[in-house]
Amino acid sequence: MALSLPVKFKPATPIRGIRKKSAAEIRGNTSHILLLEDLPNRKRGEFLCGAPINNKLAHEWFNINSRYQAKTVTCQRCLAAAKRLK
Ligand SMILES: [Zn+2]
Repeated sequence: MALSLPVKFKPATPIRGIRKKSAAEIRGNTSHILLLEDLPNRKRGEFLCGAPINNKLAHEWFNINSRYQAKTVTCQRCLAAAKRLK
């Protein structure tokens, strides 16, 4: 089932850390809806459900400004919030 929102978004997982040697990101397990445009109550760069962003800089590099995206959204809170937006 395709998700639709009134703004641009992509599925993404939060960055839990960065590997020291390779500078590769360590990702969480849950894929959230990452907003690429502002909503009335959420800003671009935030997750729709309000999941915390622990490392803002890594989040910007590896999520907001990256071509990376997760396969699907698995966060039930994001999916529920997306339904409410319609
Ligand atoms: Zn979420």
